[in-house]
Amino acid sequence: MSAGKSPVGADIVDLAELLAHAYAIEVEAAERYRVLGDQMEVHNNPELAGLFRELAGHEEKHAAEIKARALKTGMAELKPSEFKWPGTEGPELAALDDAHYQMTPWHALQMALAAETRAFEFFNSIVESTAELDIRKWAGEFREEEAEHVALVEGLLEKYPEPEAGWSEDDDPPNMQE
Ligand code: ZN
Repeated sequence: MSAGKSPVGADIVDLAELLAHAYAIEVEAAERYRVLGDQMEVHNNPELAGLFRELAGHEEKHAAEIKARALKTGMAELKPSEFKWPGTEGPELAALDDAHYQMTPWHALQMALAAETRAFEFFNSIVESTAELDIRKWAGEFREEEAEHVALVEGLLEKYPEPEAGWSEDDDPPNMQE
């Protein structure tokens, strides 16, 4: 740990700001699962397409719940640069640029796992570093939800193991066509 740099969680000053971050995480997660669902549809995996859409619905429900909580506390209106993510991007933002045209279920699930883990760690850092009891309580609830998402994706990965080496060489890449 570098000295002098405060932990991310300690920078969240009130519930309105916590909710703004949680809301951004859920909205991004929902969008990601919609994209992954479409990808799996393209790859003729209706089961996983359905699962990702279910997850998207789940995240949308969480986003709505956060909005409901914000009726009491308010929600901070933050510009993108004002969010207190550890990096520059939101914790659940998966690199959708990585979406390979031949992305397998395993690849899609790896992206989901990485994003859910980052979200878990974000709330965890708040729980572990904030001195505010109410912030710690709510961040703990969000952390719990993310832990469930991580476990869910890990469960799916047992069903969709890593493809064997060379999986991407089976078909002609698009730049070889025409
Ligand atoms: Zn999540």
